[in-house]
Amino acid sequence: MAIRAILGGTFNPPHLGHVSPALHLLSALNIDALGLMPCKLPPHKSVAVSEEHRVNMVKLCCEQDKRLYPELIELSLPSPSYTVKTLRALKERDNKTICFFIGADSLYNLKSWFEWERLLDFCHLVVMRRDSDTFTPPDDLVEWLKANKTEDVLQLHAQPNGLVFLADTPLHPVSSTQLRSAVQTDASSTLQETYMNETALHDAKFQATTLIAKWLPQAVSDYIYTHRLYQELSNK
Ligand code: ATP
Repeated sequence: MAIRAILGGTFNPPHLGHVSPALHLLSALNIDALGLMPCKLPPHKSVAVSEEHRVNMVKLCCEQDKRLYPELIELSLPSPSYTVKTLRALKERDNKTICFFIGADSLYNLKSWFEWERLLDFCHLVVMRRDSDTFTPPDDLVEWLKANKTEDVLQLHAQPNGLVFLADTPLHPVSSTQLRSAVQTDASSTLQETYMNETALHDAKFQATTLIAKWLPQAVSDYIYTHRLYQELSNK
């Protein structure tokens, strides 16, 4: 059965914490390609950087590996966009099995998602570790997880939807929030007064550039600096 993997996100900006564990999973699950799917108007997040910039950064990210492609369907759907509606639109487009990748933090918040109980009508949820080697779902998800969980990769291919797979992905301790803050620290020329001395300022800038070099694909980093994204507190 044809199967596709999708990672939805704000991608503000996209980083290797998104891409590396997801690519690891593609091999583990024997899936050929991963769509990075920027969300339109996230109901629970405010995004100051334009949709166009986020899409351009996702496209640059996808150029890093031939298994990646931008999946822009959500941007053409009516607002407000919700994951369950987007998944239904994807299914209507070509009826492939969808493995929808999410980080463990997203799983733990699942009950705040619009019509969360219908998500498994349209996909399998594949969960990547986020901050910890173990999964510690909230109490009110435990029974639901027990009822829907599988550890069998073949079942993901055999069944069209309805399963949750907790994946053994390596930890990638980074977030877009940290990277936005790092770019702002790196670019700022007025930080000095907030630091005790030159050494502290130097250390902060060094940590920021190290984080950026480690976690942002070079093309995305170049794009951010060319377009001066995240450099002012107001566009973080
Ligand atoms: P922000 O810091 O702005 O909240 P983020 O880094 O969490 O952003 P999103 O674009 O909101 O990134 O995340 C999209 C999806 O990728 C979510 O399901 C999230 O859990 C997952 N994800 C993001 N970063 C990581 C990471 N470092 N490891 C594993 N999963 C991640």
